[in-house]
Amino acid sequence: MSEPLSALKTRTDHTVDIAPLAPRCILCGTDASNKTLYPGILKCPSCGLVFADAHVDSETLRALYQQSYFFGDEYLNYVEDKPFLQKNLSARIQTLRKFSAGGMLFEIGCAYGFFLELARNYWKAVGCDISPQACSYAREHGLNATSGEFAALEVQENQYDVVALWDTIEHLARPDLYIEKASRMLKSGGIICATTGDIGSLMARMRGQRWRLIHPPTHLYYFDRNTIERLFAKYGLEIVHFEHCGYSRSVQQIVYSLLLLNHETPFRRKVYDLVKPLFGFSLYMNLFDIMFVIARKKQE
Ligand SMILES: [Zn+2]
Repeated sequence: MSEPLSALKTRTDHTVDIAPLAPRCILCGTDASNKTLYPGILKCPSCGLVFADAHVDSETLRALYQQSYFFGDEYLNYVEDKPFLQKNLSARIQTLRKFSAGGMLFEIGCAYGFFLELARNYWKAVGCDISPQACSYAREHGLNATSGEFAALEVQENQYDVVALWDTIEHLARPDLYIEKASRMLKSGGIICATTGDIGSLMARMRGQRWRLIHPPTHLYYFDRNTIERLFAKYGLEIVHFEHCGYSRSVQQIVYSLLLLNHETPFRRKVYDLVKPLFGFSLYMNLFDIMFVIARKKQE
């Protein structure tokens, strides 16, 4: 089934202001300036939301998610990892189908389109991503992906049955503006689904500032069950499913992170290239520190 490739128009005016609010809290507006949880990380004294004290504008964010993010900086090789990533996404889809029978789906942060490719079996699936290279790749593979800042895209309201954000919400300068817009896109009764780290989890509390998901400036927001519920509720979304989900991970990617990420030397690279072929398999892990949340837009 072929679909038009530019269903979304990019707005040319720059009236959408997504400048970060930090050190003010996006949930309750409290100033968290002096409430440092870890170096560079604040915790709102009023509602408990944890966020980076970072002032990253959308240009800087765009620069962070260039090609090198998917090939070396953060992921070893995103495209090589496709089978493992899709294994996880298929599991998410099985759960989603209990809450949505079909219709229109929109993915915010679709990257190379690995989710859209699976989702189009059940929904009319479109997406957007800040990385133009990732979107071109998705379009070359027949998927409907628009590159650009979601906050600035012209989208239809009250049209969508599902809006998905996989491991995306923590990267945003203003998650509140995204969720507000996502909620407007949904039909009443439609669902929003998201995965993100849980800073209230046992693992996060045990590891403290060394928790593997604490890395500003790519991760700016750190939710727990209470704060994500509060964010959704603010925009008329009610949680209908909550779980800590496991992931299949490429063992090559794990070895890469341990050996090379942030401390590559020519010797380590040689060792890695030598042992890499031994690790072409996946491992299922659940550390109970990633939340998978589905929320439904309340009937009007
Ligand atoms: Zn707050």
